[in-house]
Amino acid sequence: MLNRRKILQAAVTTAAGGVLAGSPSSLLAQTGAKTAPVEGAKLVLLGTKGGPRVGGTRSNPANALVVDGNVYVIDTAMGVTAQIVKSGLDLADIRAIFISHMHSDHQLEFGNLVYNMWAAGALRRPIDAYGPVGIEAMAADFWRLNRMDIATRIADEGRVDPATLLHARDFAAKQGLVMSGDGVTVTAFTTPHPPLDNLAYRFETPYGSVVYSGDTAYNPALADFSRGADVLVHEVLYVPGVDELVKRANGTPTFRNHLIESHTTAEQVGRIAARAGVKKLVLSHFVPGDMEWITDDMWRSEVARHYKGEIVVGRDLMEIPLG
Ligand SMILES: [Zn+2]
Ligand SMILES: [Zn+2]
Repeated sequence: MLNRRKILQAAVTTAAGGVLAGSPSSLLAQTGAKTAPVEGAKLVLLGTKGGPRVGGTRSNPANALVVDGNVYVIDTAMGVTAQIVKSGLDLADIRAIFISHMHSDHQLEFGNLVYNMWAAGALRRPIDAYGPVGIEAMAADFWRLNRMDIATRIADEGRVDPATLLHARDFAAKQGLVMSGDGVTVTAFTTPHPPLDNLAYRFETPYGSVVYSGDTAYNPALADFSRGADVLVHEVLYVPGVDELVKRANGTPTFRNHLIESHTTAEQVGRIAARAGVKKLVLSHFVPGDMEWITDDMWRSEVARHYKGEIVVGRDLMEIPLG
C-alpha cells in the first residue's frame, strides 16, 4: 500500500523495462504502465495453504518480501511463478530465494522459478538461493534434469547458460547470518520439523523486521529468535480440522501424530507471538487450508487466547506493508 508521499516519490517502470522519473501528474496519468515503489517495503503472501496438494482457494506456500523494489522470495511451492506474476511483481526484480526446508510444498518450484525467469528474459544478473543442506545439489540436479531444453535454447536463441546465474548455497549452521546487502540483513535459525530440520528466517530492513517461521514444531526458542519483530509470519494448524483431514484421507493415527508433532497449533502460535512480543502476527501455511467451514474467526480466536496484538489471517496475494 502506497501512501501519497511514496506515490509521489515513485518511479514508473515502463512495459519495456525502462525507468522513468516523472512528475506526479504524469506518473498518476500513466495507464497500462506498471508503478513500482522504489522506496518502502511490503510482504506479499503468494500462497497460504500448507501441504503439497494443488487446488482449492489457496495456493501452496510461497511469499515475497519487497524492499526498495528488490524482491526476496521465501519458499517456492508449486504455483509460485504464476502467483508472482499475478501479484504484479516483476520476475526481473527477484534478488534472492530462501528455502525453509526440503518438503516439496516449500521447494517444488525452486528450479522452475529460476528457469521461468530465464525463459522470460528476466534472469539478467546472478541471483542467490539459500536453504538447508541439499539446496546446492537440488540446483545442480535441476539443471541436469532440464539439460536438453536448456542446451537447445542456448544454441538456438543465443542465451546465457542459466546455471551460471544461480548461486545456491547450503546453510549448514544451526543459527547465523545468511546474507547482507541492499539494506537487508537475513539471519536463519534451525527449528525442528520432525523428521526434518527447518530454517526460520529473520529479515531486518530499513522499514522494520519480518520473521518467517517456515514449518516448525511448537518451539518456544523460535519466540526468542522472533523477539520484537514487526511482523511474524507463522505456520498454523487447527486440530479439529486435522481430525477431519485424517478421516477424509483414511489416515492412520501415525499420520495424525506426525501432523500434530511437526507443526504448531493455532493456540501454540498465540503463545509464541505473545512470548516474542511481535507487533503483528500473520497466519499462513494453514493446515488444513481447504476446509471452508474453518472461518477466519476460528483461526483468530484460538490465537487470541494468548496473543493480544494484531492478528492477520492470511489470504493469497494479500499485501502487508512495513514501516
Ligand atoms: Zn509445509
Ligand atoms: Zn514441512
